[in-house]
Amino acid sequence: MSGVIQRYRKYLDLPDLEPVSLGEGSTPLIPWSQWHNTRVWLKLEGMNPTGSFKDRGMTVAVSIARHEGAKAVICASTGNTAASAAAYAGRAGLSALVVVPQGQVTREKMLQASAYGATLLAVEGNFDAALALVRRTADENPAIALVNSVNPWRLRGQETGAYEVVDSLGHAPAALVIPVGNAGNISAYFQGFRRYGRGIPQMMGIQAEGASPLVKGEFFEHPQTVASAIRIGKPASAHLAREAVAESRGRFFAVSDALILAAQKELARGGVYVEPASATAYAGLKQLFEMGAIPAGDVVAVLTGSGLKDGTTPLQWVDAEPVVTTADTILSTINQLLSKKEQDAHVAH
Ligand SMILES: *Cc1c(COP(=O)(O)O)cnc(C)c1O
Repeated sequence: MSGVIQRYRKYLDLPDLEPVSLGEGSTPLIPWSQWHNTRVWLKLEGMNPTGSFKDRGMTVAVSIARHEGAKAVICASTGNTAASAAAYAGRAGLSALVVVPQGQVTREKMLQASAYGATLLAVEGNFDAALALVRRTADENPAIALVNSVNPWRLRGQETGAYEVVDSLGHAPAALVIPVGNAGNISAYFQGFRRYGRGIPQMMGIQAEGASPLVKGEFFEHPQTVASAIRIGKPASAHLAREAVAESRGRFFAVSDALILAAQKELARGGVYVEPASATAYAGLKQLFEMGAIPAGDVVAVLTGSGLKDGTTPLQWVDAEPVVTTADTILSTINQLLSKKEQDAHVAH
């Protein structure tokens, strides 16, 4: 089926509207590994049309905005909301205005939003300052729809991620591990599991240490992490996220940038290339498992965005420069690789 509105309309309580869709959702849930009695699954949200889960909420928010007569959408963004808003606005024939924290958003995301036709503005300050600014602008202009995750329709659309996990497994997982920035997505998943009525997993919200207000219990004035998509010091949906974690007997947890990069590399070496914010969930899952804090049964890590969204950070662990070659070096390189594989297999036995 094409698009989350078409697939799950009866759960979304929408007015009679024509969906603005790019065929989002229905992303793969792949088996990753088995750790004792825990089966780890990865939900590949980077396979949405603009490369992140934001599309699930954006299809609903932009459909509503157009239905209600808005002429433009506006958002603050660490990048992925910008790209998604720009794409769906373009599809709907609306203008998109995007406000980013200066110097804090990857080139790839700004390029993507601009390519879709958005107007980009930067503020000196962090994401939280940008969000305060666009909230004021939208409040004062009824023709401009705010499409950040404080828009309740965004969260309704993002609930469909939870529906899909249940539909794929046939039941709710024992735990769901998810990165937390502005805290909309963890809240949406929790609401989604509740509404779907097939069980609620322990909600495990993972933050980067340098931007971990929900772990520390206080806002961060200057959030810092390699994971730019979750570099947020004052999560707008903190209250909903706390409720999700408390009611599901889950927890918040923080991981270092070093562990985030190691997790990104490990996933990539298994064929799953995600951006650092998404690797944060996997890094947290591994730490929590070692602490004995992950239940037996099916456990899902939500990998929120594609690795193609950030072409700079991985250079901290990989060298992407090809070596200039001739026919001879190709053959000797292959032989080296094969004998290394043989040695590794020998060591493993
Ligand atoms: C937006 C985003 C997050 C964080 O989601 P919140 O709803 O802000 O908590 C995590 N990862 C990626 C890739 C994102 O784009």
